[in-house]
Amino acid sequence: MKKTLLAIFTFGVSTTMAQFTDKITDPVEWVNPLMGTDSKHELSTGNTYPAIGVPWGMNLWSPQTGKMGDGWMYTYTANKIRGFKQTHQPSPWMNDYGQFSIMPVNGLKLNPDARESWFSHKAEVSKPYYYSVYLADYNITTEITPSERAAQFRFTFGKSDSSYIIIDAFDKGSFVKIIPSERKVVGYNTRHSSGKLENFKNYFVIQFDKAFASTGVWDGKAYMEGTNELQTNHTAAIIGFKTNAGEKINAKVASSFISAEQAQLNLSREIGEEDFAQTQNKAKAVWNKNLGKINVEGGTTDQVRTFYSCMYRALFFPNKMYEINGQNEIVHWSPYNGKIMPGYMFAGTGFWDTFRALYPFLNLVFPAINKEMQQGLINDYKEGGWLPEWSSPGYSDVMVGNNSASVVADAYIKGIRGYDIETLWKALKHGADNEGPITAVGRKGVAYYNRLGYVPYDVKIRENAARTLEYAYDDFTIYQLGKALGKPKAEIEIYARRSMNYKNLFDKESGLMRGKNEDGTFQSPFSPYKWGDAFTEGNSWHYSWSVFHDMAGLVSLMGGTEKFVNKLDSVFILPPVFDDSYYGGVIHEIREMQIANMGQYAHGNQPIQHMIYLYNYGGAPWKTQYWVRENMNRMYKPTPDGYCGDEDNGQTSAWYLFSAMGFYPVTPAVDQYVLGAPLFKKITLSLDNGKKVIINANNNSDKRRYVQSMTLDGKLYSKNWISHGGLQKGAVLDFKMSSTPNKERGNKAVDFPYSFSTDNK
Ligand code: CA
Repeated sequence: MKKTLLAIFTFGVSTTMAQFTDKITDPVEWVNPLMGTDSKHELSTGNTYPAIGVPWGMNLWSPQTGKMGDGWMYTYTANKIRGFKQTHQPSPWMNDYGQFSIMPVNGLKLNPDARESWFSHKAEVSKPYYYSVYLADYNITTEITPSERAAQFRFTFGKSDSSYIIIDAFDKGSFVKIIPSERKVVGYNTRHSSGKLENFKNYFVIQFDKAFASTGVWDGKAYMEGTNELQTNHTAAIIGFKTNAGEKINAKVASSFISAEQAQLNLSREIGEEDFAQTQNKAKAVWNKNLGKINVEGGTTDQVRTFYSCMYRALFFPNKMYEINGQNEIVHWSPYNGKIMPGYMFAGTGFWDTFRALYPFLNLVFPAINKEMQQGLINDYKEGGWLPEWSSPGYSDVMVGNNSASVVADAYIKGIRGYDIETLWKALKHGADNEGPITAVGRKGVAYYNRLGYVPYDVKIRENAARTLEYAYDDFTIYQLGKALGKPKAEIEIYARRSMNYKNLFDKESGLMRGKNEDGTFQSPFSPYKWGDAFTEGNSWHYSWSVFHDMAGLVSLMGGTEKFVNKLDSVFILPPVFDDSYYGGVIHEIREMQIANMGQYAHGNQPIQHMIYLYNYGGAPWKTQYWVRENMNRMYKPTPDGYCGDEDNGQTSAWYLFSAMGFYPVTPAVDQYVLGAPLFKKITLSLDNGKKVIINANNNSDKRRYVQSMTLDGKLYSKNWISHGGLQKGAVLDFKMSSTPNKERGNKAVDFPYSFSTDNK
């Protein structure tokens, strides 16, 4: 044990040979979309695909190396590409909806296995706004550049009489139609993965700039030359060309969840007469405008690349599902009733992951888009009767908690206004007080929770302790929102009371959270190393910190600050042993913990991602400062294997973004960020309201990772937190860094961050 301790507290891998950067003028050029793509079922290094798109765009595109229907649509180690796929997939585990592929070939290679071509990463250019790859077997280069609901393709062919482009609308019900007189292909596909979606169609239109030499359709088995229309399980349209060496053929593509006409409208509105370069320049400018909201200076090349790659990942999900109709009205296809409805709609995020840091990140840096997302949630509730917890799109029956409450409350408390918060208030109460039609909306086990103060271990509700802890925090966020809305005490007091329910699961014997039976006895046997069971994708060592709103209460349960800090230390000191019997095998999240050499700390999954910041509530902020840097150095690289587990729709990236700025939202729905220590020598954050937050740490280095002292707007600042409201006015934070910890700073209770039981007046 001693030996482990020593090894841990020695500085780990240092960052690559320092190549410090000047001011970044073109942040999008630092993004590596391949970060996290070297993933497989048994080990995730991000489980991402190189998304070609614009921030929150309705359509994303990706080269496709996997088979049709395979969630691992692009894996870095693959040698062959079989198409370029339009995708809306938030995660390989959720799989895709709204998809079809485009593939140029030489010769009639119709079967997807015959269609694929060798490629090399050396002949591939991957940027957020532009992708290019050389398809070696065909001597064809494909280029893609996107807009929100459309894209342009440019194919450079060799000399051939048999150049073809295959538009594969995929199986499970699709349609293609070739219109030679208009050099156009239209169609739709209905393939989706999230339960039953009524009237779901992803309509597409593709406009070519060269007349077709031949046309035909394919039904998954037979090629029908000269046939221009097909509706069956699996359809593809094939158009042929005679091409000269180096000849370029352009295709403009758009889609719609509403109709073929709307897809055409999306195409005219977003691409119209633009050439490829114009669309590319526009997409690049959009990225630079958004990424440029945070300017970093004085980091290594790797740190800058990691930062902007993470920021790119934080700006996709949930993506827009709404469109703008011919009357310039915002409308959407509803995943709840299959009808075209007015207003906003978003999809592609799981709140269990993203309530923690991704939504707080949007509230700080991109409040305008989260206002649209909140308006989308109002429509989810109106059309489906519940707020979604995992939308892909609509209601997916995965994960636990009722964390939509946190997402709604944090947006309002962080100052977003101008939407129907009263309807969302009703939605939160409805979700908190009722079981849903599926386990993942509303609250599974709510009657037990309300009667006993916890969801029992022995009543056949899985992951019950995780549910209890998350419900208690969710109750807190509802109380916070109720207070902010001026709701009467009689209406909201119940949520304040229930927010203390986490105490019911604290087991004095182990000093950890533990499942509890209906009769009040704790689950037995109990192993704090057992993943799943009472917990969700984690063990008791991970979940015992899920008291986001009342660390002071947890400190006191654990026996005071000294014991609390020891317990936090133990997470890193314990060996990465595990009990996987609940899953009947090692799930990838377990493997990612085991190989990280950080003990029981499992940054590859969400439950423990806030834990490093908790030393601030125990008077040992220097330990936060140490570990936050260690974690940034070791668990994030701007490489294809660069994440330490599933990236998860911006959440794991948002952890890095906040941590690099020097603070983190441990308690969403509270106007505070808990301090860590900044990564760069200077960060300039340009807020939507025109104000700037400047974070200086002139003498920062990998060794000088501790905060000696800091000033806020020139005044010495001693607290372990900063306020969101304060940052909104514009602020200058000056950190003086040191290679040794300052154990006199932030060690008194008066400087600790917010806790409900001590700060609630
Ligand atoms: Ca995860």
